Parts: sequence; structure tokens; C-alpha cells
Amino acid sequence: MSAAALAGWAGHLAAGSTGFPLGSASGSLDGTPGGPALGPGVTGEGGGVLPDGTSAYDVDMPGVAGLDPRLLDALQRAATDASADDVDIVVNSGWRSGAYQEQLLDEAVTRYGTPEEAARWVATPATSAHVHGDAVDVGSWDATAWLSEHGADYDLCQIYMNETWHYELRDGAAIDGCPPMFRDPTDDPRMQR
Ligand SMILES: [Zn+2]
Repeated sequence: MSAAALAGWAGHLAAGSTGFPLGSASGSLDGTPGGPALGPGVTGEGGGVLPDGTSAYDVDMPGVAGLDPRLLDALQRAATDASADDVDIVVNSGWRSGAYQEQLLDEAVTRYGTPEEAARWVATPATSAHVHGDAVDVGSWDATAWLSEHGADYDLCQIYMNETWHYELRDGAAIDGCPPMFRDPTDDPRMQR
């Protein structure tokens, strides 16, 4: 390896260690090897961080147990029916503590450069539906595809066009369909403070 290539490689590592990725598909920090040390009481499983492969039935996990019971019930019914189609609905994120949400927001500002751009992707602790237990981020791609087709049958709706993985309960969706999506969270009146 040439000196120039080595310097570039080292620079890449340095950039990777400062700009920890949120994970564009899931927005999840779950179990990422080499991820940032998470301070006590800030995040961790008690704050809603979920291990890889968490299901809607892992109710011993605070991130799942903290969900609104009606949302959790709908998600469990959907997960059961999806598994009959050989689709695994993984819960990448559910309920989050305010501290965990704040950390995600801080990391998004680092990642996206400005608070305004970060707001397109990560809500504040005051506005996040996750902090209220009213939202789930699901994976994998198969699961989001399955939910985009069948989620409304369980009143589960995608809310933002730019977040194919983020689902919330919308009463009446099974009858009337899901409401029109917002382009991104900045168009959501709930996100205005
Ligand atoms: Zn979400």
C-alpha cells in the first residue's frame, strides 16, 4: 500500500469514528459492533435500545414493553400473519426514553450537519412519537414491503414518505385506508413546537 493510500485509509477510519452512522435504513443503533459507548442512564436497553432481531413478542424488552398496548397488539397480529407469508417483522426501534431520543438527535445533527436537516429524520424528545410509545421502526426490507401492502388491515400506517420503516397506529385505516403521508417529519404538525 502506498503512503498516500495508507493516509487515505487512515483518514477514512478517522472519519468513520467521528461520524457514527445512524443507519439510514433503520435509524437504529442496535447492537452495532464498535458503536459509541453508551453512558449509563442515557440509553441502553433500559432506554429502549433493542438487540438485533427483536420481535413484537419480546415484551421483556423495555423498547417493546413501552409501546402503546393497542399499537403492540396490532403489531403482534401483523407479525403473526406476516410469518405465515415467510416474512419476519423485526422491531428495530419502538419506545425510546427521552435521553435515548436526545442522543439520536445529537448524532443526527453531527451526521446531517445542521439541526434543520437533522429534523427531517429525527424528532426531538418532546415531539417524537417513539418517546410516547406510539411508533415502531421495522425491518427488514421484506417486512416494510409486507406492511406497505397489508399494514392498513391492522390500522398500521406509514406516516412519512421518507421513512418506509416507521409505522404508527391510525384508527379506521382498516376501513378507510391510511391517511396521506407527510413528505417528511418537518411537514407533520405534531413536529412543530
Ligand atoms: Zn420511527
